[in-house]
Amino acid sequence: MRKKIIAGNWKMNKTAGDARSLVADIMKLSVDASKAHVIIIPPQVYLSEFGSLSKANGVSIGAQNSYPKNEGAFTGEVSAYILKSLGVEYCLVGHSERRKYFGEADLDCLEKVNALLEQGLTPILCVGEELSVREEGKHFDHVKKQLLAVLTSVTPTELTKIIIAYEPVWAIGTGKTATTQQASEMHSYIRQLISDQFDAKIASQVYVLYGGSVNDANAKELMSANDIDGVLVGGASLIFTSFEKIISAVKS
Ligand code: PEP
Repeated sequence: MRKKIIAGNWKMNKTAGDARSLVADIMKLSVDASKAHVIIIPPQVYLSEFGSLSKANGVSIGAQNSYPKNEGAFTGEVSAYILKSLGVEYCLVGHSERRKYFGEADLDCLEKVNALLEQGLTPILCVGEELSVREEGKHFDHVKKQLLAVLTSVTPTELTKIIIAYEPVWAIGTGKTATTQQASEMHSYIRQLISDQFDAKIASQVYVLYGGSVNDANAKELMSANDIDGVLVGGASLIFTSFEKIISAVKS
């Protein structure tokens, strides 16, 4: 059975001192590693400090972005190759903010996924539709296009090493969460898509997270829904008491 993954994307938040104290609080939690896995995704500058933290208590460190070349004259960028040397195990790819503000396209996502897999890191591939797309009823096609841009170029074994995060853009940072039914039907659709491209066994092994205004009030219901293997949390991961409650929603 797939355990639940709770990933906290801090985005561009927290000073060094605040980041240290939040991580220290999270590290004190006793996470039942057989049921849940917690991934902290702080700003890149903190990765060298946090990447070496003990993984013993079911907590790992992820990066918010990576560059698909290993080394070279790419000022300001950080590669999967360098992230690996810091002890980072996960990396977001194609987050809607990267797509919107930094022009990250499906092809860039594929390059990043390939570079991360090559280094043994787990990509967390974010997909999701804007509000106008959902209103037009084209959200399934939209997510399919984003996913197939990557899925058609990876092997079945590689796919089982990729985490997918369904994050409807209209729900990110807006306080407007997808209903459990909306999330659940998209997650089932994604799993069916994987099954059609590969097979049902592979589809059953892939983690599909939900993200978009997850908080301590809605996490439990979302995570108990069919095909939702955990949550990618933005705002609520910045507040220890909220993040702690989201993690304990798995246990209860
Ligand atoms: C995110 O950053 O991926 C996210 C889902 O943010 P929020 O939880 O704040 O909507």
